[in-house]
Amino acid sequence: MRHRPVSGYDAGSADEKMSTSRPGSAASAWRQPRISERFHPQQTSTGIVAASGGAGCRAGAEDMAGAIAEGMLMTRALLNSALAGMGTTIFAEMSALAVETGSVNLGQGFPDTDGPAEIAKTAAEAVLAGRGNQYPPGPGIPELRNAVSAHQKRFYGLDVDPETEVLVTAGATEAIAAAMLALLEPGDEVIAFEPYYDSYAACIAMAGAVRVPVTLRQPDFRPDLDRLRDAITSRTRLILLNSPHNPTGMVATSDELAVIASLAVEHDLLVVTDEVYEHLVFDGQHIPIATFPGMRERTVTISSGGKTFSFTGWKIGWVTGTPELVTAVRTAKQFLTFVSGGPFQFAIAAGLALPDTFYADLTASLHRKRDLLAAGLRAAGFEVFVPQGTYFISTDIAPLGEADGLAFCRSLPRRCGVVAVPNVVFYDDEAAGRSQVRFAFCKRDEVLADAAARLSTLSRP
Ligand code: PMP
Ligand code: GLN
Repeated sequence: MRHRPVSGYDAGSADEKMSTSRPGSAASAWRQPRISERFHPQQTSTGIVAASGGAGCRAGAEDMAGAIAEGMLMTRALLNSALAGMGTTIFAEMSALAVETGSVNLGQGFPDTDGPAEIAKTAAEAVLAGRGNQYPPGPGIPELRNAVSAHQKRFYGLDVDPETEVLVTAGATEAIAAAMLALLEPGDEVIAFEPYYDSYAACIAMAGAVRVPVTLRQPDFRPDLDRLRDAITSRTRLILLNSPHNPTGMVATSDELAVIASLAVEHDLLVVTDEVYEHLVFDGQHIPIATFPGMRERTVTISSGGKTFSFTGWKIGWVTGTPELVTAVRTAKQFLTFVSGGPFQFAIAAGLALPDTFYADLTASLHRKRDLLAAGLRAAGFEVFVPQGTYFISTDIAPLGEADGLAFCRSLPRRCGVVAVPNVVFYDDEAAGRSQVRFAFCKRDEVLADAAARLSTLSRP
């Protein structure tokens, strides 16, 4: 196999929007992953390696060596077409902007105060005592698997066998990736409520599958269950659920979950449920969909310690499900990271065993912060959609005379020294989220008050 020199080299067509991670344009997204054939100049220098067609085979390596020797140019884009247009995540872009401009960062969702000292101490002691410094077991250390199992029983009454029904992952992010890679075939359809967390679109695309969005609409962002029913086809493989929902803060009710569950059973679908905000619920109640009739055998439940224990940098997540589902996800996971975070696994195990007061205090504290920031945002002129859960508030900027959330967020740091995230990057239906902007409230009270004061200086029409 030889690579012909490039003729039509489209160096100047980089899409402005590609600097944010977005699922795709409204025009191209519906049931069709975006495929960009664009070439970017910087891709040619090393691109020859990625362009050597024969992934994992000797012939490919020989071709590659020949091509390098002949100094041939690229004939293909460097980046796999499934990822074309994904760019840099909005979180990285906005956090970099916050640092650059010295702004208050209410964009990326991370607490500005670390979690409990006793959990941090457990991690430090584990490192010093040599616990977990070498590869931990593939499914995770037994202490953490036992702790996850006990947590599912304690909070939800779910029986989970720590030996066969728990898998520890590198954060929920890896769990989502491994689940998509393990459970999907190319062409399968995945239904997800949009706006969706940006890694969903990327992972579905990496698995060669097709995302099918069902839109959550302001002001209340309730799941439209008729739309969900209509979105199911013979190609639908799974529903990717996220409740409490990022970025809208919607928490699915028992009635809504019952309908979703019955549709999954009726159409024999899998459900992958991302429950990382399970302990951040202020109104209503978090109910795992795995508790509904017929769901245990078809649900992959994902969570992580990042949000609950305020250690987002540790990246300890987990999957629970039947032995068959967990085995499938583990098969993919073992080739992604194999294992990770040995000492942190001990610490998160300790965290999960903390008494109920820890969980109640966490919720109470964030509840108060939610109300603090909501009041500040309202006073500054935003339309506020009060979240039932998570640590994000979605707003509409229309009352400020603004329409374009992405442009607004890019200009906000220089206008008033605050960073937020535009929800539009999480939508395929751009019109539905164009004027929405998300603020994180997992920050110290004085930081939230400072942000509110800065935002109050925004001029209105
Ligand atoms: N899912 C959702 C909905 C999220 O908001 C996040 C961000 N933390 C993740 C998954 C990723 O979690 P982790 O940091 O544990 O990988
Ligand atoms: N989950 C976090 C958020 O939504 C950020 C995670 C990330 O930076 N990828 O803000």
